[in-house]
Amino acid sequence: MGSFAFGAGVALAAVALAYQSKSPTGQWYGRTFTGLKSGIRQLALTYDDGPNDPHTFRLLEVLARHNVRATFFLIGRYVRQRPDIARELAQAGHVIGNHTFSHPNLIFASALQTRMQLQDCERALTEAVGEHSRLFRPPFGGRRPGTLRMARALGLEPVMWRAAGKDWKGKPAEYVERKVHQRVRGGDVILLHDGDHEAFGADRSQTVIASDRLISRYKSEGYEFVTVPEMMRKPVVGSQPAVPR
Ligand SMILES: [Zn+2]
Repeated sequence: MGSFAFGAGVALAAVALAYQSKSPTGQWYGRTFTGLKSGIRQLALTYDDGPNDPHTFRLLEVLARHNVRATFFLIGRYVRQRPDIARELAQAGHVIGNHTFSHPNLIFASALQTRMQLQDCERALTEAVGEHSRLFRPPFGGRRPGTLRMARALGLEPVMWRAAGKDWKGKPAEYVERKVHQRVRGGDVILLHDGDHEAFGADRSQTVIASDRLISRYKSEGYEFVTVPEMMRKPVVGSQPAVPR
């Protein structure tokens, strides 16, 4: 009985640890930014896994129409492929962050692999757009204490989210909108995708439609859309030097 209780306790602890390693708001493995105190009339749209063609462009049009600036966590290898899209994002005043070079789950990466992933992405971003934010989002939200330590050692600030649109695999815009709406409490970082880590060119038209509707809806309710650095009350461009080559 005693050993059963112990075993069950260990199993529960293991489940909790596994959950914390991917939980967007879990803080056991080091502090990550997920938003502000709920009730604050600010929202930060974030888009992962771009740049993507043509959906990043369609999204840029929607954001421009609403005069909203968002935060984009880009995959380094796609930036290499299409630096022109990254440049358009930066020129339109959107914030650019690091989403690793090839989108591995960093829970399973060694310290060296993690460093290479972050540095290679940093280099691709610097070559494409020059100075950019020091924000970093781990692929799949996966991280261990060492992941966040490495990011911080490189001067990067980990950002997670509180409301996810779950806009993968072609879910309709209504579904994405509903998922976000179910989680928004004010002061939230919202996770959406303008690209797909599995393939460049993935269809993100539903995310573009959902973004348009979410912005209209929350603006009419008095919310202001800000970038993550604005939400963090930090300057848009970091003052730290880029990662050494
Ligand atoms: Zn991703």
